[in-house]
Amino acid sequence: MSLKRSLVCLLLLSGLTFAQHPAPHKKTARAAPVTRPKADPVTAIHQSALIIDTHADTPQRFLDENFDLDQNTPVTEGHIDLDKIKQGNLGAEFFSIWVEPEFKGHYSQRAMDLIDSVYQQAARHHDRMTMAFSADDIARAHDQHKFAALMGIEGGHAIENDMRLLRDFYRMGVRYMTLTWSNTNDWADSSGDIQDPNVKHHNGMTDFGKDVVREMNRLGMIVDISHVSDATFYQALLVSQSPVIASHSSSRELTNQPRNMTDDMLRAMTNNGGVVMVNFYSAFIDENYRRVSSDPEKIKQRDAEVAAYKKAHPHPDGSPVTYDETAAIEKKWAAQFPRPPLKSLIDHIDHVAKIAGIDHVGLGSDFDGVTSLPEGIDSVADLPKITQALYQRGYTREQILKILGGNFMRVMREVEATAKRLQAERKESDALSFEDIELMVGNRVSPAQLIDRIRQHGVNFELTPEQRTRLKNEKVDDSVLDAIVKVRKK
Ligand SMILES: [Zn+2]
Repeated sequence: MSLKRSLVCLLLLSGLTFAQHPAPHKKTARAAPVTRPKADPVTAIHQSALIIDTHADTPQRFLDENFDLDQNTPVTEGHIDLDKIKQGNLGAEFFSIWVEPEFKGHYSQRAMDLIDSVYQQAARHHDRMTMAFSADDIARAHDQHKFAALMGIEGGHAIENDMRLLRDFYRMGVRYMTLTWSNTNDWADSSGDIQDPNVKHHNGMTDFGKDVVREMNRLGMIVDISHVSDATFYQALLVSQSPVIASHSSSRELTNQPRNMTDDMLRAMTNNGGVVMVNFYSAFIDENYRRVSSDPEKIKQRDAEVAAYKKAHPHPDGSPVTYDETAAIEKKWAAQFPRPPLKSLIDHIDHVAKIAGIDHVGLGSDFDGVTSLPEGIDSVADLPKITQALYQRGYTREQILKILGGNFMRVMREVEATAKRLQAERKESDALSFEDIELMVGNRVSPAQLIDRIRQHGVNFELTPEQRTRLKNEKVDDSVLDAIVKVRKK
C-alpha cells in the first residue's frame, strides 16, 4: 500500500480533513487532547456499505489497450482503476464481457480473451482484489478489504447458439448474461434493432432462447434483461424460475429510450423478485440530453468520423477495429452536449425505487462503456456523491445500503438457491432432458446407444419442431427422433 493511499484511507476512515487537523505545536508544548469529530452520517453510511456495481466495460481496456488497474487514469480516459475504486469504496464490480457483433465467427474466442483479461488483473493485484463467483465470495472479499471482480457476458450471441458453450462460460466464472446486446441474435430479440425491418425477429424468444433461460436458472447464472426487447423481457420473466436482473437499465417513463424500462416492466420486476440496476449514461437518464444527442444529422456526422477512422487504421490481421480505438472520437462528439445534472440520475434511482420498490433497485453504472456521465460523476471515485444525494432526499441508512448492494446480494443468493434446487431435482429424475440428448450427440454416442438410453430412462420433454430441426442439423438419425417421440407417448 502506497503512502498516499494510506493517507487517503486514514482520512476516509477518521472523517478528518486536513483543515480539521490541529495546528502543529511546539516540541515543548504538551499535546492538546485531539478531539475527533464524529464522521458525518453520509460518510459513515457510504464507508460501511458493501457497494456493488453490475456493469463496467473495463475488460476492453485491459485487452485492447493493455490497461492495468493499477494505473491512475485521467477521467477522460477511464472511469475505473484501483485508486478510484478505493476512493469510491466500491466492493464488487461485474466486469462486462461484451462481444462486439463485428467479431462474427469469433464470438466465443473474443469472450474468452476478455474473461482472461479480468483473471490477469486479479492475479497481478491479488493483494487488493480477488475473483468472486458467488454472493459468499463477495461478502468474504469485503471482509478481507479486497475488491471483488465478477464477470457478466453482454450479448447472448457470445454462446454461438450452443448450450455447451453457455455451460463452459459458467465454468469459467461468468455469473450473468444479458440475453442480447443491441443486436437481435438467433434466439432473442433486442430493443436495439426491434424497429429495423431488415432484421429477422422472433416475437421475443425462440424455443432455444427459452431453453437458454432454463439452463441459466439450473446453472445459477443470473438472467440479465438489459438491452432486450419488451417481448423478450416478458417472456424471460415467464420462463425464469429465478429472479432476473437488469444489470444496467434506467426508466423509460423519465427518459424515453427503448432500452429503458417502462413502469409496467418495473412492476413486473417486483413480482419476479429481481432488481433493476440503474444505468448512469447521460442519454439514458436525461430526456433533454437524449433529445439533443439523438439529432440524426449529428449522429450521421459522428458515424462518418468513426467509419473514416476505421478505414484509415485497419488491423493487419483483419480483426475488427474495436470500440476502444474510436472511443476518443465518440467522447469528443458527446462533449458538445452539456452534461445533465446529478439530479437526473438520482431521479431515476428514486423512480425505480418508487415503482418497483426499494428492494428492487441498485447501481449499474456502465462505466468505461459510455461517453457521457452526469455532472459530478466523473468516475467510480464519485460514488459517495450518490449516497449523499440519496441521503439528502430522505432515504434512510437501511434503504441506501439496499440500493448500494444489499438488493443485488439478495437476488444473487436467490439465484444460487434456485440453481441448487433445480440441480437436485434433475438428479432425482432419471429422465433425459433435451440438453442431455444434445450432449450425447455432441459426444458422438452412436444412434443404437442413444436409443437404448432413451428407452431406459425416458425423456422429460416434448420434441418441438425447432428441437427436431436442431437434431437434424446435427445429423441425428431419424430412428433416434422416433424413439424420443415413442417413449414420450408411453
Ligand atoms: Zn450495455
